[in-house]
This record gives sequence, structure tokens and C-alpha cells, in this order.
Amino acid sequence: MGLLEKLCKAPGISGFEDEIQKIMKEEFEVSCDKVEIDNFGNVIGEKGKGKKKIMLAAHMDEIGLMIKYINKNGFLYFIKIGGIDDRVLLQQRVIIKSKKGDVLGIIGAKPPHLQKKEEKKKVIKHSKLFIDIGARNAKEAKSMVEVGDPVILEPNFGKLNRDRYFGKAIDDRLGCYALIEIMKQIDIKDATVYAVATAQEEVGLKGAGVSAFKLNPDYAIAIDVNIAGDTPQIKEKESSLKLGKGPAITITEASGRGVVTHPKIREILINTAKEKKIPYQIDVIEGGMTDGAIIYRTREGVPTGVVSIPTRYIHGSTGVFSMDDLNNAIKLVVNALPNL
Ligand SMILES: [Zn+2]
Repeated sequence: MGLLEKLCKAPGISGFEDEIQKIMKEEFEVSCDKVEIDNFGNVIGEKGKGKKKIMLAAHMDEIGLMIKYINKNGFLYFIKIGGIDDRVLLQQRVIIKSKKGDVLGIIGAKPPHLQKKEEKKKVIKHSKLFIDIGARNAKEAKSMVEVGDPVILEPNFGKLNRDRYFGKAIDDRLGCYALIEIMKQIDIKDATVYAVATAQEEVGLKGAGVSAFKLNPDYAIAIDVNIAGDTPQIKEKESSLKLGKGPAITITEASGRGVVTHPKIREILINTAKEKKIPYQIDVIEGGMTDGAIIYRTREGVPTGVVSIPTRYIHGSTGVFSMDDLNNAIKLVVNALPNL
């Protein structure tokens, strides 16, 4: 299994990142001078000895579910961790990460034949869905899983065609992969670069907030995924990002509530792309935020930029992306760092 596949398939819903955390630590130990895991669970890899401090961030956590209640017939009810679209949940196969090991489950609902006319028109809310683990009753279910157990969508990863790949949790394991590769490739004399695999991004950018406070960087770049607009029914004016056209350089997220990229960082990223002939796209988004949104307003403010990989079906069970975009995102950051 390649590294990217291993990262995408690893479990790690927000706050339960231990397995992905372990992989990130092992990888940083190869490419960095120093590695630490902070109190919050962020994995911080450090390289270089310069005075200038640069923080790179990508989140390790993924969206998922958590067991909330086990009913008398042994079916499991759940809450959502992070912004999962209710429409993608029905009929998903999930893995419950129980203390005793992995338990496979199927998300079920009342079949269409038994739904009333009104019900058929509506999306079935997650609160009406349940997980079937094949237990005969509550007692058996409780011998397999517990309330509070984290749940991931069934891991998947593979190639579709040419540069197009798919996978679970590509948000933001693509960024994690980029961090590892960037730390391997950089050789900067006048700065210390911190690669932070952040915890709990999907539930409020929390890990990035505490790690930025701790590191107090001079500059930061967040690496995440972004919404591609090149599938049916998305208008170009809603998202003009396309797979294979290069990583996106963000100007503003969430209509200004997210990161507003520092003009200097923006300039450096765009000029680096032009100079090195790296394809890039410019991104202005109405919704959605990245770790950059919290890093840039830490302490007295940190000039921050966001480089993102356009992806399809974001916050679903399987995303689609271009490997070329991922490699170009790595190339862009590696080449931009000495210019900060
Ligand atoms: Zn993300």
C-alpha cells in the first residue's frame, strides 16, 4: 500500500485521531529533525534552525459518526461529527472503532415501499437512520460496541482514470501527504519550518488554533482540499475550480469570515507558480473554511495563505481528485517557502 492510500484509509474522526496521528509521527520522524505530539493531539514536525518561523498546517481528522444510543433490538443510533451531508449516509457501510476492535455496520432506513408519499420527497435525516451490525438484541450489540464509539465510513482508495483518483477522507489526508512530502524535499537555511498535522479541524479548526498559539509563527500556509465545480449541475460562477488545472490559491474564504490571505503571501504564491510554471487556479469562496482561518488571527495575527487541491464530492464517503494537482500543490509550497 502506498503512503497516500495508507493515509486515506486510516481512521481518525475529530478527537479520535490516534491511528492517523501515529502514521504522521512515523513519517515526520523520517523527514524532520524533531517531532512532538502536543496536549491537543497535533503532530508537529520541525525542520531547520533559522530564526524565521513558518508553520504549515493540514488537518488529520476526518468527518464521521459517533454512537449515541443502542435500541432494544440492537440497532445503533448516531450523531454526526463534522459536516456530513445526510444524503450520503443511507446505505453506507461503516466501521465502528470499538475498544474490542473493528465492527462492520450498514446504515439502514425504512425501505421506499413503506414510506408515505410525503416521506419519499424528503431526505431522510440522520436522526432517523440507524446502523445495523447484525446484533440480535441490545445485549448482543452492547457486547460488540459502546455508546461513544467513533465510526468511520468504510475505507476506500484507488485510481479511476489517468491522473484521477478516489478515496475516503481525501479531506484532508491529501494535505497530510503534502506535508510529509514537503518536509522531505525542503532545504531551507534561514528558517525553521513546522509541519503541523492538526487535530479536530472539522469541528471548529481547534488543533490549528492551539498549535499556532504555541508556535507563534511569522508566516503560515494551510493545505487543504477545496470544492471543484466541474461536475454536472454546478454552475461555473458557483465554483470555477477544475480537476487537473492545478492547486488553488485562496484569496478569501467563507465570504471573508474565513481566511483573508495576506497580500504578500498571495503575491509570493502566485509569483512562484508563474516562475516555476506550476499551473494554479485562483479561489474565492462563499462557504467553507480551513485551518488558515484560525491561524491568521492568532495572537497579533499571522500572515497566512491557503493552497488547496480541488476535489469532487467533498464531505461525502468518497472524493475524487487529480494526482497532478496534489503534486503541483507540493511543488508550489516547496518553491514558495524560501521566498517567505
Ligand atoms: Zn478539510
